[in-house]
Amino acid sequence: MKRTTQIGLSFLIVSIICFTRTFAQDTSVSTTLFSLPDRPQPSAILTENNVTIELYFDKIAQGQAKLIHVFGPELVGVNMLFLGNLIDFWSVTNDGYYGLISVNMELPPNSYDLLIYGHYQDGTQATMKVTVPVSQGEFIHQKIELSSDKVYLADPSVERNELALLESITSNLTHEMLWDANGFRIPLDATLASPFGAFRIYNGFAHSRHTGWDMKAVLGTLLGATASGRVVFAGTLDIRGNYVLIDHGYGIYSGYAHLSKILVAEGDTITAGQIIGKVGTTGRSEGSHFHWDMSINGSWVDGIDFTKLWIPLPILGATNAGNS
Ligand SMILES: [Zn+2]
Repeated sequence: MKRTTQIGLSFLIVSIICFTRTFAQDTSVSTTLFSLPDRPQPSAILTENNVTIELYFDKIAQGQAKLIHVFGPELVGVNMLFLGNLIDFWSVTNDGYYGLISVNMELPPNSYDLLIYGHYQDGTQATMKVTVPVSQGEFIHQKIELSSDKVYLADPSVERNELALLESITSNLTHEMLWDANGFRIPLDATLASPFGAFRIYNGFAHSRHTGWDMKAVLGTLLGATASGRVVFAGTLDIRGNYVLIDHGYGIYSGYAHLSKILVAEGDTITAGQIIGKVGTTGRSEGSHFHWDMSINGSWVDGIDFTKLWIPLPILGATNAGNS
């Protein structure tokens, strides 16, 4: 049994969620303004053959992640195929299935097909096709001068190797909800500095993209985990220096770079806000600051933007509902 439906998102006029980029380099915006977002209204709803899809976006900008909700009687699982990646949804008690769709910062703006599969106990599936418009991100350009002892870190092969290592980890989509009722928060109460996605040129020749956000922070400042999860990397890298990478489940990872001290080890289970290290200036850094990465489904995404995204959280004190 195969049922196919298509939604043309480009016809949607009303956008309930509208994230505009207002941060520039050395902005004085403080992360203390952050609080957990409220559940928004979906931007589009499609019901076909007893399966309902709610889209919490009308388009996705480069470097963003967005939420999709699918529910219907007798569904036993939901997944989706986007840009060649098969991504599982997690189940929420009495509230169907939720999944995150992400777009990397370099994907050319265009419309891309998203296939959503609803699975039934008897092995049949419903297939829904959605067209997802991807728009240009707003990214700044930066020129950065590395001191002579660090110029070797501008070598594109050093960066390529490091990204390949990290992406070999972050492309593993753990089928387990490791975040908890505290949700996802910016790991440090600090002034934002260099933004996610910036086009960078090091010493006039080496082109690079900024995979995360930089924040101003003095040496030794304690860093809390953005959400609960499991440490999947804790070690020293060329560019990120002392680095901690945490798996939050279902394709969500957070990374903490340039640390002066790592206070966790690979395999550790981490609670939200737990201190995982101290701010430093190790790796490709010219002064004490904190660099924060977020990756979803193998793509680096804007972590500040992600923390503004409403996603369902387990009820405080209950066991996680999303395991499947
Ligand atoms: Zn950085």
